[in-house]
Amino acid sequence: MQLLDGKKISQEIRNEIAAEVKKLKNKGKKVPHLAAILVGDDGASQAYVSSKVKSCQEVGFRSSLIKLKKDITQNELLTHINLLNNDDSIDGFIVQLPLPKHINEQKVLLCIAPEKDVDGFHPVNIGRMTLNIPCYIPATPKGILEILKRYKIETEGKHCVVIGRSNIVGLPISILLARKGYPGNCTVTLCHSKTENLKEETLRADIIIAALGKSEFLKANMVKKGAVVIDVGITRVEDETKKSGYRLSGDVDFDDVSKKAGYITPVPGGIGLMTVVSLLQNTLSAAKEEFYKKTLSFNVEEDF
Ligand code: NAD
Repeated sequence: MQLLDGKKISQEIRNEIAAEVKKLKNKGKKVPHLAAILVGDDGASQAYVSSKVKSCQEVGFRSSLIKLKKDITQNELLTHINLLNNDDSIDGFIVQLPLPKHINEQKVLLCIAPEKDVDGFHPVNIGRMTLNIPCYIPATPKGILEILKRYKIETEGKHCVVIGRSNIVGLPISILLARKGYPGNCTVTLCHSKTENLKEETLRADIIIAALGKSEFLKANMVKKGAVVIDVGITRVEDETKKSGYRLSGDVDFDDVSKKAGYITPVPGGIGLMTVVSLLQNTLSAAKEEFYKKTLSFNVEEDF
């Protein structure tokens, strides 16, 4: 079994991004600038946003954190988003999810300008992703592709089973792995809470992506020998031995499955870290205007 080390790979990518930022500075260009909107005081959301902001600083990006009260109205939030859409000093921005219940998440995501949507959640970016047109790819699926690529894992013709069909992980990674190209060209089965005989599906998989949010759900008896197992899940599980009172647990029973898998990602130290660097990569692309100014002339023959 080989560990797919998100810590090592994400550090490699951070170094590459930091080197690019230096080059931009040396050429007298402005450094990439990411903004994040955080609504309310949810502990997990605060932790995710702080780690994104800290990562920006580490690679030399500018970052702005906009903290808004949890009882802000939807219209006030949309006004903040419009300000960011029209602020030329900001290359890309994210709105940390989940939002309070009185705010319509879809409306908010639709209001973000696609060319600044570095989370890749806007329908324009999802549509471009589906059609294999250059775009911002949602950070977690992008991180999964990157780790497969960096470990040179063969994907062509492989059977991939994705567990979970969320708009931010399961659905987009299914589309991406079925697309032409590398990593891709897989035969994909997308499983969810209504799937019958999930174990039958996972036992046929060469690659399993577990993104359902149930701690240690995937066991060795559900996995074919030598399979590639990607664990996306992050669940806080009570743990009195920890100062915080909890530990982070994945969707895969690591100790059990690692005896049978060919490759496996750990939690923590796997896809979570890859997700943060993917956001940085998208922000760098936004600053370099890679997708929305330069791709009008992209070559259809080459790209499809
Ligand atoms: P979600 O929580 O929105 O939805 C869960 C999905 O799992 C649904 O599509 C549901 O149909 C499916 N599901 C639930 N129980 C199932 C079962 N028994 N069998 C088959 N399918 C089942 O999904 P999400 O937002 O993608 O989150 C999934 C997990 O990934 C969570 O633990 C979340 O915290 C984590 N996550 C991690 C990262 C990261 O950076 N590593 C990013 C996003 C989400």
